[in-house]
Amino acid sequence: MSDSDLSWVDYDTRHVWHPYTDINNPTPAFPVKSASGCTIELQTGEILIDGMASWWSAIHGYNHPQLNEAIKNQLESMAHVMFGGLTHRPAVDLAQNLINLTPDHLDYVFLSDSGSVAVEVALKMALQYSSSIDGNSARQKVLTIRGGYHGDTFGAMSVCDPITGMHSLFHSVLPQQIFVDRPETQFDGTWHESDFEQFEKVLSARKHEICAVILEPIVQGAGGMYFYHPTYLKRVREACDRNDVLLIADEIATGFGRTGKLFACEHAGIAPDILCVGKSLTGGYMSLAATLCNERVSSGISSGEPGLFMHGPTFMGNPLACACANASIDLLLKSNWQANVSRIENQLSIGLETMNRHKSVKSTRVLGAIGVVELHRPVDMHSIGTEFIKQGIWVRPFGTLVYVMPPFCINNLELGRLVDGIGAVVSKLH
Ligand code: PMP
Repeated sequence: MSDSDLSWVDYDTRHVWHPYTDINNPTPAFPVKSASGCTIELQTGEILIDGMASWWSAIHGYNHPQLNEAIKNQLESMAHVMFGGLTHRPAVDLAQNLINLTPDHLDYVFLSDSGSVAVEVALKMALQYSSSIDGNSARQKVLTIRGGYHGDTFGAMSVCDPITGMHSLFHSVLPQQIFVDRPETQFDGTWHESDFEQFEKVLSARKHEICAVILEPIVQGAGGMYFYHPTYLKRVREACDRNDVLLIADEIATGFGRTGKLFACEHAGIAPDILCVGKSLTGGYMSLAATLCNERVSSGISSGEPGLFMHGPTFMGNPLACACANASIDLLLKSNWQANVSRIENQLSIGLETMNRHKSVKSTRVLGAIGVVELHRPVDMHSIGTEFIKQGIWVRPFGTLVYVMPPFCINNLELGRLVDGIGAVVSKLH
């Protein structure tokens, strides 16, 4: 198969599973030739302005010289060695970077391969902590809010939204968790204490069953692109403390500046007991995630039987990925990321607001470098994708949600074309 004849694209359609697709009746994927800066070039010649940052991850854009360099340099000394019994500088530097950057007291780092695995690790930490502390297995459930998304592995699926997640398919094998409604008060809304009543009631009534609360702070991503009020998160932290339950913050999508703060927990001035990061950790270059915890969790686990934390992936602490993550963090901190994110926020707010006049549009919202156009009716993903490509932009909606979270380096002109392209497409929808 040569690259120029494009028969590989046909092979892809017949043999290769893409995310959430029917292998026998797939929606064709658009073949990519290369990606650079804020653009993706298709094999068919179109150059698209990227609105997705490859699902929240490519914050610095594609083919970045400093990230390329970091990987090349690391390759000169080693691509990978096992992390069991061995250690290396890129992983330790990354641990130090993460401990320094994340909210206070998250001083212990577990490196893993993907966001879903980081969530599994967080859930295991909470379960091992709880059985160490209680000396029994009574507290094995996790409390979470509806509308969440935490990944596609079994533990992660069990805490995804029970309706829009995959509960119905895997019900019989999924751990049964406890759900409360998501907060009604949106990020910019007026806070009413009544919005916290259900959470408070359920947590205090069932605390003897619950080892941890897990949530996406401030922004619920794939579960509905919903931005909720920081006071809710503050109240969750207080309630977890009062009821002696751990708080897990899943910042896999929100971490590293996306919401206008380095971590979304900062909007509420709180720190979780366990934190998951991934996606943009490597600037979107390769798969790497981390789960951090505080001393309470780490010493709780150590004090139990067997005292060991029972997880250890083959590619744990992969040096190439860690070197890339260190370079990405360095780039982020040396860049004017806050100014960039607020520039994107302003331009998106003005641009998306105008779309409320189209009859297909239910509402629009923006937070940091995230923009959402919520439609009245679900879209056909492939046909709307083709329309976006005609506009020269890469946007991949789901359900009723057309949303963008572009690389932070997107310039005003590119962002203008992205917004105009979305406007042109949604204006034609019914
Ligand atoms: N948590 C959140 C909040 C996410 O957005 C995602 C990915 N969309 C995950 C976990 C899972 O990460 P991954 O796809 O890397 O397994």
